[in-house]
Amino acid sequence: MSRTPAYAAASATSPLAPFAVDRRAPGPRDVQIDIAYCGVCHSDLHQARGDWGGEIFPMVPGHEIVGHVSAVGGEVTKYKVGDAVGVGCFVDSCRACPQCRAGEEQFCSGGMTLTYNGRERDTGAPTYGGYSTRIVVDQDYVLRIPDGMPLDAAAPLLCAGITTYSPLRHFGAKPGDKVAVVGLGGLGHMAVKLAAAMGCEVTVLSTSESKRKDAIALGAHDFAATGDGGVFQSHAERFDLIVDTVSAPHDYNAYLGLLKVDGTMVLLGIPGPSPLSAFPLVWRRRKLAGSLIGGIRETQEMLDFCAEHGIVSDIELIGIDAINEAYERMLKGDVRYRFVIDIASLQAG
Ligand code: NAP
Ligand code: ZN
Ligand code: ZN
Repeated sequence: MSRTPAYAAASATSPLAPFAVDRRAPGPRDVQIDIAYCGVCHSDLHQARGDWGGEIFPMVPGHEIVGHVSAVGGEVTKYKVGDAVGVGCFVDSCRACPQCRAGEEQFCSGGMTLTYNGRERDTGAPTYGGYSTRIVVDQDYVLRIPDGMPLDAAAPLLCAGITTYSPLRHFGAKPGDKVAVVGLGGLGHMAVKLAAAMGCEVTVLSTSESKRKDAIALGAHDFAATGDGGVFQSHAERFDLIVDTVSAPHDYNAYLGLLKVDGTMVLLGIPGPSPLSAFPLVWRRRKLAGSLIGGIRETQEMLDFCAEHGIVSDIELIGIDAINEAYERMLKGDVRYRFVIDIASLQAG
């Protein structure tokens, strides 16, 4: 066991504050990671504030983890001390169900073990995430960070990167396809970079007119502000694929009208419920889908794709003491485009 400094929410109404967790000594197949950076995902905020129900407190959020291997168990073959590695949204799964066998552990029939706000499969003990200085994870759930990739800007790839890469691949985004990205935040800006690198013609649909210039710089071909609603006429029936990353309830029906016949809208954001009408689906044989992060194999594929295409996240590096303010700014859509915690600030504090 090692006592590890961390930041935790004591309840759904408490701000995050200093805390400490015990990390297990590495077992035979475990990799011990000294965390260098951890990205701040909107899912951290949803869970720390009890938006989804069933949360476990105290909660140490953080599932965009990068750092260096500081110890390995005797049977570890994939990693050695000093390697740059990452951990995403889950740290274990049953390994036996059809989805685990297919490398889509996020859909494990027995439930994936979340990196935080989950329970370890053997002991039932709560899991604690990356707002901490160290984590111990089975080697099969650890990712390799490609050589030369800046670690701070790589951290958000472990959730925002894979969450947007996976549906673009699964729904067959190909060169020339017209792809709309709704919401330009952490997920949205990665969706723009990745879809542009796949050769798609990308349009950003945003509530923030002030993000127009950034959208184009990130690789979008077009930008439309959704505020006055005019876009729902001007861009009607235009897109093959819509990637919806919005974190707050919004009118799905209006966005569905932007799809061509047979087009697909993929929900990635997980806000509270919004009404859905059959009309926009039925009228043009459109599809509404969802997608959840991605499996370990695909996450490694995404990291390697990003290395090949020179893609990382656009980040604002913060000290851990700025985390509560960062949550408030994220709620206002005021993040360009991912907060990343410098974990050295936690070590020092
Ligand atoms: P984020 O950085 O806060 O970005 C969300 C964006 O949504 C904002 O920047 C804003 O973009 C837009 N938005 C916010 N409120 C809005 C509103 N009321 N109406 C319209 N647009 C609004 O969040 P994120 O980290 O990208 O996460 C986005 C969502 O995805 C969250 O719900 C998160 O829990 C979920 N998520 C899902 C998965 C998955 O596997 N499916 C993985 C990670 C995260 P504009 O300023 O451009 O409008
Ligand atoms: Zn996330
Ligand atoms: Zn499984």
